[in-house]
Amino acid sequence: MKTIFSPLHARHGGQTELIAGEIVPGFEKPARAEIIKARVIEAQLGPILAPENHDLAAAHRVHATDYVAFLPTVWPRWSAAGKLGSAMGFAWPTRGLRGDVVPEAIEAALGFYSFDGGAGFVAGTWAAVKSAYDVALTAAALVRDGEAAAFGLCRPPGHHAGRAFMGGYCYINNAAVAAQWLRDQGAARIAILDVDYHHGNGTQEIFYARGDVLVANLHADPLIEYPFFLGHADERGIGSGEGANHNFPMPFGTSWGAWSTALDEACVRIARFAPDVVVVSLGVDTFEKDPISRFELTSADYPKIGARIARLGRPTLFIMEGGYAVEEIGINAVGVLTGFADG
Ligand SMILES: [Zn+2]
Repeated sequence: MKTIFSPLHARHGGQTELIAGEIVPGFEKPARAEIIKARVIEAQLGPILAPENHDLAAAHRVHATDYVAFLPTVWPRWSAAGKLGSAMGFAWPTRGLRGDVVPEAIEAALGFYSFDGGAGFVAGTWAAVKSAYDVALTAAALVRDGEAAAFGLCRPPGHHAGRAFMGGYCYINNAAVAAQWLRDQGAARIAILDVDYHHGNGTQEIFYARGDVLVANLHADPLIEYPFFLGHADERGIGSGEGANHNFPMPFGTSWGAWSTALDEACVRIARFAPDVVVVSLGVDTFEKDPISRFELTSADYPKIGARIARLGRPTLFIMEGGYAVEEIGINAVGVLTGFADG
């Protein structure tokens, strides 16, 4: 399996985030991608290739025009305003406030285009976000051209980013961009299987009214876990998307038994949908030692995830999402991929 990787991800580093009442160094840091890359080499998964440069047309297919235009302007505007620290909002237009007027002040525009304080910007953030977008599209092209599978080692991740908002370390929704691009390249149906510990709220929002892109999410129950405001089992899609959104919320402490039962059910529904391509939002923060998560999967479980996905027998695009136990993130993420390759 080929891996697509860009060293530009490292330009996004040293940012802070707002979590549990504190501004702390971002858990989402450059070492994550470097450790995964090292493990790809160590496990001899296959060649590592650089991404090709793409214009932003594919981003506009899933994100709002004004949102895509805003992202590259954040750091220049923030630094020009003389502000210190990571660029992030601190006020958000919730129910009862105006959601139709973009404020002029950069700190307010950041709140307008965010749903939390978890997607800070530093000087190199846009360069990294753009590189992850290029990684996703380049990996998607490999699958389009006939590869059985490809791995987009995207960083920063994308599944919390919606049509017009960032959050949760995510800016451009790499998996959604790739899925839509594959549709535009002629695939009739795409299934997105999100195995990250957190609900992929952005991906769900983008495709919620779509019957041609099935979205299945396995995640911690939003009643008790981030991103809190989406991801319940009764969210099944609307309009022509009715029945194409599948949520599997699970309690803290979930281990392989219950988690794999949900994976099986998701795979049964995906098989019934008969997608041309399966896009896997590959988060490994379900790991028992993950510092911000509370599931109990072990390193031995990850190859079994890959093997189950392989049994779908579909061209498969893996897009890297979360996973924060940096010592084991390579073993677990690449474990899914080798499990797939051997499955
Ligand atoms: Zn996550």
